[in-house]
Amino acid sequence: MIGAPVLASLIGVWQSYLATLMGQGVMHEIRVDMFDRLLRQSLRFFTNTKSGEIVSRLQNDVGSVQGVVTGTMVNLVSNVLVVASTLFVIFRIDWRLSFVSIAVLPFFILPTRRVGQMRGKIATATQEKMSEIANVIQEALSVSGYLLVRLFGAQSYERQRFREKSQAVRDLQVRQGTVGRWFLAFIMLFASVGPALIYWIGGHEAIGGAISIGTIVAFVGYLGRLYMPCTALVNAHVDVLSAGAVFRRIFDYLDLPVEIADPEHPKRIAAPRGALAFENVSMSYSGEGPPWTVEDLSFEIAPGQMVALVGPSGSGKTTVTYLATRLYDPTRGRVRFDGIDLRELALGDLSRWTAKVTQETTLFHATIAENLRYARPDAAREELERACSIAQVLDVVTALPQGFDTLVGERGYKLSGGERQRLALARVVLRDPRLLILDEATSALDSRSEALIREALEAVLAGRSSLVIAHRLSTVLSAGLILVMDRGRIVERGTHARLLDRGGLYTRLYEEQFLPGEAAVEPTAG
Ligand code: ADP
Repeated sequence: MIGAPVLASLIGVWQSYLATLMGQGVMHEIRVDMFDRLLRQSLRFFTNTKSGEIVSRLQNDVGSVQGVVTGTMVNLVSNVLVVASTLFVIFRIDWRLSFVSIAVLPFFILPTRRVGQMRGKIATATQEKMSEIANVIQEALSVSGYLLVRLFGAQSYERQRFREKSQAVRDLQVRQGTVGRWFLAFIMLFASVGPALIYWIGGHEAIGGAISIGTIVAFVGYLGRLYMPCTALVNAHVDVLSAGAVFRRIFDYLDLPVEIADPEHPKRIAAPRGALAFENVSMSYSGEGPPWTVEDLSFEIAPGQMVALVGPSGSGKTTVTYLATRLYDPTRGRVRFDGIDLRELALGDLSRWTAKVTQETTLFHATIAENLRYARPDAAREELERACSIAQVLDVVTALPQGFDTLVGERGYKLSGGERQRLALARVVLRDPRLLILDEATSALDSRSEALIREALEAVLAGRSSLVIAHRLSTVLSAGLILVMDRGRIVERGTHARLLDRGGLYTRLYEEQFLPGEAAVEPTAG
């Protein structure tokens, strides 16, 4: 009586260590697989999914099945063993009483399915609400969200939105708890029916002298070792059933088809020239077409050439830059880099040799040096300095109290817009791509910032091929080829002078877009 419990509790410690190790190991692998799977989605997935939803599935959903993974296996093995050994013993004591005691077991087991399903439904609803909560947090409590909330005075609206979702989670959790309790009470009822039956039937037998009182007492003692493990097994079954719903949410993500993947035998480029070609490219965001977002685009960028994209807003210019960097694959036609179809090219090589600079510069919450080294982890301090000097941002960095070791806030909020852009250009200089894709800023910076950026850009673009969404006159003037887009098609192409002569869409755009800005900087007399 003393030795066995001591041994059992020692084994218990070891067992719970193993169980936790296994459970956490499984969780860890699911999380990592999910993250990896998400990284290999195309931009389409992220534009269609709320970011809070992604965070929530990765964290809440994976976390909420932890108990099942950790506890169930152990439960299953130990309880099955106990049930089997108890059955063996009680059948040896008295087989007729044994049949009576297992006759009540179906009443334990039958309702589990329903309870499991109900709890599963509640669990799914809870996870959905949780991801809505994550989304509100993401939207309202990020820098840009907060700015919007404050500027529109929407605090009470957001508070209310959050409160409602939080209340919904509370109510669901309360229901989850009640369903479980109600079920447990039901089981307890049948657990006490068993002994009562044994006392009744066994009592009659004992009076007749067929069995001894001691047999009945021993028998009822064993019943606890039969019913308790059965209850635990049934509960485990309910847990698995209700976790099934959450597992489905997890597997939704794990089973996502990889949209942008390395080909089976990727082609490599060691020393690219930087030529880009679109061949009859059509694409629609739904992945099927028509209607096409861009249709039948064909053009070439020769090594070192600058091609400018112009066109009214919504004409498909950004979409072209997405296709050039393989953020989306064309639905029809092909895009080639140095003659190789992007779908056959190693993804690593594509991103190694192309770079994109947009108006919205993303800087990580890290030091300036770390942000720059994202482009090249092994860059030495001198190389960082050289890149910053080319991008006209070295003065700014060295003027900071901690220089390159200054933390830039999430999304680089502590630097001015122009400084952030120049830092992004420095990052590109470090990367040293052969093809640069650039979305010129539409918003006018002050003229000194503007001049600095223009100088930085000239230095960065020199000797590289580039595809530029042009908003500045100087860019279209220096472009070797201008593509004029309208409603997803290239409607005119040529140099500035040739296009102006035609007097078409380009001429109109030139008068509306390029002339006024330039006129403000250099007012003409008269
Ligand atoms: P531009 O850069 O010339 O302003 P875009 O390439 O951004 O034009 O957009 C071209 C068209 O594609 C627009 O009509 C726009 O509404 C649509 N579009 C852009 N992004 C998406 C998307 N993620 N899903 C569906 N349609 C989109």
